[in-house]
Amino acid sequence: MALVNEYFLRLSDNYLFSDIAKKVNAFKLTHPNERVISLGIGDVTQPLCPAVIKAMHEAVDEMATSAQFHGYGPEHGYDFLREAIVKNDYHSRGISISPNEVFINDGAKSDLGNIGDIVRWDNSVAITDPVYPVYIDSNAMIGRAGTCVDGKWSNIIYMPTTEENGFEPQLPEQRVDMIYLCYPNNPTGTVLTKTQLKKWVDYALKNDSLIFFDSAYEAYIHDEDIPHSIYEIRGAKRCAIEFRSYSKTAGFTGIRCGYTVIPKEVKASTLDGQKVELNHLWERRQATKFNGASYISQRGAAAIYSPEGKEQIKQTIDYYMGNAKLMRERLQQLGVIVYGGTNAPYLWVKTPRGLSSWKYFEELLYTSALVCTPGAGFGPSGEGYVRLTAFGKREDCLEAMERLKR
Ligand SMILES: *Cc1c(COP(=O)(O)O)cnc(C)c1O
Repeated sequence: MALVNEYFLRLSDNYLFSDIAKKVNAFKLTHPNERVISLGIGDVTQPLCPAVIKAMHEAVDEMATSAQFHGYGPEHGYDFLREAIVKNDYHSRGISISPNEVFINDGAKSDLGNIGDIVRWDNSVAITDPVYPVYIDSNAMIGRAGTCVDGKWSNIIYMPTTEENGFEPQLPEQRVDMIYLCYPNNPTGTVLTKTQLKKWVDYALKNDSLIFFDSAYEAYIHDEDIPHSIYEIRGAKRCAIEFRSYSKTAGFTGIRCGYTVIPKEVKASTLDGQKVELNHLWERRQATKFNGASYISQRGAAAIYSPEGKEQIKQTIDYYMGNAKLMRERLQQLGVIVYGGTNAPYLWVKTPRGLSSWKYFEELLYTSALVCTPGAGFGPSGEGYVRLTAFGKREDCLEAMERLKR
């Protein structure tokens, strides 16, 4: 009989969001007249903007003619989109990235999960805690995370981000090969300034580490001194891979499109010390295992960079950030301690009276019919917090805050 990859058996089956759904369903059964409001939702709710819809309609029409039909495209994406990205997301900030350093994908999660293919299974890994679960689980699947005991993986170096350290992870004491950073952060909604991020780039250069920088939420940054790209930090082009997504930027969660930047200078070593370009390895990997994002979604993505597109997606982001501001202010008026929500669509709320995050989850559900996400579901240091998201409707955010006041 074929043998399974037993590393998969080490993963926990309990997926956070299905646990939450079960508890919410149980509540609904016993409270049929209550309207449950979810502030736990991790998906956007506003429709695609008109510029994107128009571009996608046009792309569909092209597909209907033999002259303009598009079959397989380049695995790394169409030049029209790679060029728009380089010009608008990088050159505009004084960062020199070239189109062949940009890989278009079907959303950031795929590449964040797959990037580990091109580095050895026994590299050491550091992650911030709490964290987006993909970074750990994808490493666990090939054995890089070790075994999971009491919610902690034996080969993962956890870097807690907590109230005590101002949500700034401390540099690891030992040398680490791979470091995952996500800023603006999901789930805490906190950010790193340029000075804070520079410490990580300097560490990576000194220790020959690789940084995987997830900037899925860069479009939500409001403050001036917060970097949108890790390449705003000198030297990052030698040590960092950046992941971006149109999911939260432009409502592409259902369309699927994002991109990964791997500068040519980013290298890793063979066992005998030979340096290898990761851009080249990833190109090779994608050519075998990926056949490109759809032409229609890439046309939609390119439309985000048109003047109308830019203006329209900004309006939606402003709407979500208006929700965040409103919830943040009202919670603070109620004396609740809340982090995030100024440069990210997430609020990281400290549970009152030292409640555990699941206990507070139940309290909010049973006293106010509100759904949040328990922080403990994102890692050990998430205990004592819950995450609220700003992706809901304005009316719901307002009503949720009214209910809390009562
Ligand atoms: C939503 C999200 C992504 C983007 O995922 P897609 O696959 O592009 O939809 C990436 N990283 C984090 C931390 C996220 O929350």
